[in-house]
Amino acid sequence: MSQTPLQIQRAAVIGAGTMGRGIVMCLANAGVPVQWVDNNPQMLDQALTAIAQTWAHNVRQGRIDQAEADARIARVTAAADYAAISEVDLVIEAVYENLELKQQIFRQLDGLLKPQAILASNTSALDIDAIAAVTQRPQQVLGLHFFSPAHIMKLLEIVRGAQTAPAVLQAAKALGDRMGKVSVVAGNCFGFIGNRMLNTYVLEARKMLLEGAFPYQVDAALQGFGFAMGPFRMYDVVGIDLGWRARELAGVGQDEDEIQVDNRLCEQGRFGQKSGNGYYHYEPGSRQAEHDPQVDALVLRVSEQLGYQRREIGAEEILERCLLALVNEGAKILQEGIAESARDIDLVYLNGYGFPADKGGPMAWADQQGLAAIEARLLRLEAEQGALWKPAGIIRELAASGAQLARYQAD
Ligand code: NAD
Repeated sequence: MSQTPLQIQRAAVIGAGTMGRGIVMCLANAGVPVQWVDNNPQMLDQALTAIAQTWAHNVRQGRIDQAEADARIARVTAAADYAAISEVDLVIEAVYENLELKQQIFRQLDGLLKPQAILASNTSALDIDAIAAVTQRPQQVLGLHFFSPAHIMKLLEIVRGAQTAPAVLQAAKALGDRMGKVSVVAGNCFGFIGNRMLNTYVLEARKMLLEGAFPYQVDAALQGFGFAMGPFRMYDVVGIDLGWRARELAGVGQDEDEIQVDNRLCEQGRFGQKSGNGYYHYEPGSRQAEHDPQVDALVLRVSEQLGYQRREIGAEEILERCLLALVNEGAKILQEGIAESARDIDLVYLNGYGFPADKGGPMAWADQQGLAAIEARLLRLEAEQGALWKPAGIIRELAASGAQLARYQAD
């Protein structure tokens, strides 16, 4: 296979929901003509109107002129079906998070698109190799994981499948540059770099709700550290119902203690900002998260029903558990070669997850603390709370030799 980077001259996006809209804007803003497919024509119509409104707003703000807005609009065309997009160089799929659905779409696209076209999925966590496996071109398949809102968030996780060709990764990086993104290559595992680490961090936050803390206390501690948003405010923005519906669909995970607060909130229609109530209350038209005592009462009820003995949990413990969960999982990701460097992990957290910039990212923060101190803190948590906290092998190795995560090179 040629090592010459492939040129992305024309692209297509499948799905006109939240992510599809942002991704189409990224491409059009970067000068790439884009064809857009959604199996719900009404959704596609609404999406075309919505992106035109965003650009009109940019004109009113003085960020672009009318000619530029017109040029961007002209780059986006609705396509009736997959046959209409057969000449594009890249397709980015952004439909519902469901493996069978994505596989079905990739199978169809593979049969229609020219052989050198690249097929990408915006999946948040699913197995890229399982998606690539249904095609005759696994070397041309990869993940392009944008963050919401995609036209604003800087991070692009480029997910390398087992067979993704180097030239395809290069083409993805070149496109990332054209779109003004900070691109980080991640290996293929559940959640890649960012969401895999996020899962461990959020698990601690949720456990602490059951053990004695309230959502506003957890968020206040993490925001006090400098995070743009604590985890519960973040879920109010993302939509608490996304995970709830995904668990329902998959038929797994719905019984775990840690998600019972989410389940109760969703059963009451408290989906987050979009429904005016979630972990917080929002006045009509406002994005201001207001403390809601009803949520504290709900948290109390859930933890008591599950038989937890609640205790006082201070900001220090909240920070310790959430930050060390990020650090330990990040170290495992580095050790497994899912991330190429500690710096890449930091870039993901700084540009996609609101980690405080002045602390350099979770891996840089761990290095600042000293890895021997981090190891000792993890061992103390392991003794108190169990094997989940066992320090990653590289933390032990690097701590023993006085080295840093920043200088770690995988074999
Ligand atoms: P969404 O529900 O807002 O939109 C999905 C769109 O796909 C809908 O417009 C739907 O009509 C369309 N669709 C469904 N089946 C289709 C088909 N067979 N052919 C064509 N179109 C079809 O979803 P979303 O939030 O934009 O998420 C899309 C993907 O992006 C998911 O894989 C999700 O995990 C991932 N993602 C989401 C976020 C986020 O914050 N929302 C962030 C990163 C990644």
